[in-house]
Amino acid sequence: MLPFDFDYYKPASLKEAVDLYQNLSQQGNNPMFISGGTELITLGRIDLVYTEAVIDLKEIAESKVMQFSGEHLVLGSSVTLTELGEENLFPLLSKTASEIADRTARVKITLGGNICAQIFYREAILPFLLSDSQVVTVGPEGVKVVPINEIFRKQLQLSPGEFLVQIATEKRFIDAPFYTFKRRQQWYTGYPLITIAALKIDNEIRVALSGLCPFPFRSQLVEAALNNKGMPEAERVERALASLPGPILDDVEGSANYRLFVLRNLLLDVLESLDKA
Ligand SMILES: Cc1cc2nc3c(=O)[nH]c(=O)nc-3n(C[C@H](O)[C@H](O)[C@H](O)COP(=O)(O)OP(=O)(O)OC[C@H]3O[C@@H](n4cnc5c(N)ncnc54)[C@H](O)[C@@H]3O)c2cc1C
Repeated sequence: MLPFDFDYYKPASLKEAVDLYQNLSQQGNNPMFISGGTELITLGRIDLVYTEAVIDLKEIAESKVMQFSGEHLVLGSSVTLTELGEENLFPLLSKTASEIADRTARVKITLGGNICAQIFYREAILPFLLSDSQVVTVGPEGVKVVPINEIFRKQLQLSPGEFLVQIATEKRFIDAPFYTFKRRQQWYTGYPLITIAALKIDNEIRVALSGLCPFPFRSQLVEAALNNKGMPEAERVERALASLPGPILDDVEGSANYRLFVLRNLLLDVLESLDKA
């Protein structure tokens, strides 16, 4: 149960959703978009989220898309993590998403909701950061298509009233060799100690991480160190560790030093798995 009441809207089109947000904002109703609604429930219960008007994006046709269009795979923001796994159109994404939460929650959690979540793990973003995907948003200024590595800086940079509609990924990234692993400290379904996703494209390894810092990221400095093939693998990994952004998380899931220990081994696994792929 949520400790507050709110009005519930389920727009049928992008325009209706954009207009609703603007009108409700002007009326001072503090509107909130939802897709799966799991975070509204989780954070609303402990007073970390409050709204008087919920705009549910789930029924908008463009947000339910899951198909190839020319050379791109287009995935809508309302597609659930379970649906991603069942269709398995993007194996790196399906595998990463299959490790998020538990079976019951994955039926509800959506791609858009995970990527735009306030809880900072946002693991579903990792495959898209690695594959230079294109993000489609809509808001008061209309539809925008923006490279993910421009619009995602720690979190998706959206203006008030703007929301995520789709993400498009080129097929060549989908077919590339990949590696992904989620190391947890607790249970089989907990938040990550570290989740790593990697793929090899144009003979270079790319790496993205969640759980190491208080935001998911991909780092060109880390990748440059890992791809320096003139050096022994262990040295490449040490240089990658020295290039990490900060801060390194130091919390109940694990100390900063333990995270770095785990990451060192994961990076060695990435090299072993993808160097010769
Ligand atoms: C038991 C459990 C375990 C979990 N474990 C993990 C984990 O290990 N790793 C992990 O990454 N996540 C995990 N999560 C999921 C995560 O914390 C969020 O709760 C979830 O991703 C939200 O998805 P949702 O579709 O329900 O989003 P919603 O609750 O609908 O929305 C979440 C946020 O995104 C915004 N939003 C939703 N859709 C859009 C859109 N289309 N455009 C713009 N903004 C939008 C909302 O306004 C809200 O702020 C877990 C969740 C549960 C319940």
